[in-house]
Amino acid sequence: MNSRILVVEDEPRIQRLVCDNLETEGFRVIATSDGDSGLRAARTDGLDLILLDVMLPKMDGFEVCKRLREEGNRTPILFLTARDLSRDRVEGLEAGGDDYLVKPFHLDELLARVRALLRRNEWSKINSKERIALGDGWFDLNTHEAKSADGTVETLPLKELGIMKLLLEAHGGIVDRHKILDEVWGGEAEPTTRTVDNFVVRLRRRFEKDPGRPEFILTVRGVGYRLGSLKDDNAT
Ligand code: CA
Repeated sequence: MNSRILVVEDEPRIQRLVCDNLETEGFRVIATSDGDSGLRAARTDGLDLILLDVMLPKMDGFEVCKRLREEGNRTPILFLTARDLSRDRVEGLEAGGDDYLVKPFHLDELLARVRALLRRNEWSKINSKERIALGDGWFDLNTHEAKSADGTVETLPLKELGIMKLLLEAHGGIVDRHKILDEVWGGEAEPTTRTVDNFVVRLRRRFEKDPGRPEFILTVRGVGYRLGSLKDDNAT
């Protein structure tokens, strides 16, 4: 499903430019032009990101952000502002913003930040769950139970669980085999990165439909492992 983005920007030219470009990229966009209506629109369910200008009529962007966070609204916020003072950056982040882009900005830069925030949000939604879906299987961070691709449910051995947790925490980024070895095996005698590889083979046999062509636990040659996209199975 396409992400929904709210744009709160009072300069018509910039609002149009930003909205047009986001729509071209396939996002669903809602736009408002002042702080009051921005705050109301931000309370809508199902928003994935808010692009929030700082200098706005009626209520400034920092105030909108502060109020949302006080209400427990955790929708990611990217501030857009003409001001480039470090004091403002700090204020924006203290108000609960997630990132900060100074005008004039390049559209490529804006789209890159938007994608990064959406990706981060997607992974944090997945990481806040106790049961992580992997295709037809899943594993449960609370009970340590795991359902394999073939439907068997059993307790996931701690080392396998440890590897899965490290991969999850990396949000799809690469986890070095040495890091896995350090964190999961700790001070145990004589394991090598070969041991890590053997455990990954077991995890693939467990969760992958075709362990020879993994979709979830991917090899990064010469470095380590990373998780493939889980979001279709874990979308809420
Ligand atoms: Ca403005």
